[in-house]
Amino acid sequence: MTTHHDTIFALSSGRPPAAIAVIRISGPRAGFALERIIGRVPPPRHATFVPVRDPASGEVIDEGLALWFPGPKSETGEDIAELQVHGGRAVIAAVLAALGRLDGLRPAEAGEFTRRAFENGRLDLTAIEGLADLVSAETEAQRRQALQHLRGLLGERAESWRQRLIEALALAEASIDFADEDDVPKEAMAQALARIGPLADEIAQAAGAGRGERLREGLRVAIAGPPNAGKSTLFNRLARREAAIVSPFPGTTRDVLELHLDLGGYPVTVLDTAGIRETVDPIEREGVRRASEQSAGADLVLWVLDATTIGPDTAAEVEQARALAPDTAFWIVVNKIDLVPEAGWQTIESWFSQELTVHLLSGLTTTGLDKMVNAVADYAAGFFTAEPALVARARQRALLRETVSALHAARAAANDGREEIVAEHLRLATRALGKLLGRVDVEDVLDVIFRDFCIGK
Ligand code: GDP
Repeated sequence: MTTHHDTIFALSSGRPPAAIAVIRISGPRAGFALERIIGRVPPPRHATFVPVRDPASGEVIDEGLALWFPGPKSETGEDIAELQVHGGRAVIAAVLAALGRLDGLRPAEAGEFTRRAFENGRLDLTAIEGLADLVSAETEAQRRQALQHLRGLLGERAESWRQRLIEALALAEASIDFADEDDVPKEAMAQALARIGPLADEIAQAAGAGRGERLREGLRVAIAGPPNAGKSTLFNRLARREAAIVSPFPGTTRDVLELHLDLGGYPVTVLDTAGIRETVDPIEREGVRRASEQSAGADLVLWVLDATTIGPDTAAEVEQARALAPDTAFWIVVNKIDLVPEAGWQTIESWFSQELTVHLLSGLTTTGLDKMVNAVADYAAGFFTAEPALVARARQRALLRETVSALHAARAAANDGREEIVAEHLRLATRALGKLLGRVDVEDVLDVIFRDFCIGK
């Protein structure tokens, strides 16, 4: 049985062996643990060089730094002790074993330090989501956005919205409570409504704008086109480039391979619809339709064509494919250009409408590949706004939208003269913002959020 009175400990640094290992202890017995293994509690927030001993035998396990962060002004809000020892497996195992033998101490569960920080009011839920994103950030742009959230970009705004809402709610309630007095009700309700309007607009704007969630997931680029055009070859080329930060792995959809790239600091996920070919109808149109279906979820489609099999009529076929994903940016990649003499390249370009972006390249010889990759990087930079987005997750956006619709409902009720319902809608709006911050009713989302954390965080 785990309780919050337990004192927990874990290795908080990366996988051993490493130069240094950081072991954290949090809870009411953190000071006791320090006394037992280093013989004293060092002064707060000062690194102290100490021998670390096995309390049972008195044997020195290692020497290292000890730090003491008394609660409540610590990361978890509890007393925290931190040991920095040598990062060898045997050292870490011996220190953890020694801690485990102490009364009232037990190993931490995944995310438990952060969860305590949340429960002790050190972090709101949006900051914790930022922290999870910061730990998993792979590109500069993701790191910047996550750090802003950890520092309270959304949390502080949401808290101030909540305060304003509570004021509006108090006014609306006053108008009901003092219904028998002449002037109070009308005036209080008018003041409440005057606050609701701008608030609804502000929140709606924050909920609608930005591409924060996409920055977490990356720009989705689909490689699609008819069979044998060279899609897989192109995909594999991209995977082998130095910029690839994660090797290709099967995506969530069975037929699609995903490749995660860092292009100029922006995350780009390339999707290869290659798997679709195995299951396609022999009639090519069916293949095109299915590939286009895949493309519809993308932000940018690279429609790959074989330079040796296209002609002036190709443009019409391309338009058909494009019509299936009309809202998605659509580029033509004329592949196998190594098989066409350079003199013919301009003719190929002339077959496509001027508005279309056309890249001529060879997946085989890599001619033209860098130019296209740079163009995708530029596209990603333009796609993601330079400013960190206020909203980074679907959960956050959904709750902001819920807040806005409750505010609209409150306004509508007031216009219909149903004053008593105004307060009810305002309470719902306050509740939605409270959920965003983790103040109310969030047990169900907590497990999902903390699951993303590793042990020791
Ligand atoms: P997919 O069906 O669109 O995924 O096409 P593949 O990548 O499997 O390629 C089909 C065939 O075209 C293979 O034999 C490739 O080796 C060949 N191919 C792909 N790209 C090029 C290229 O740029 N130049 C040449 N000459 N052949 C290519």
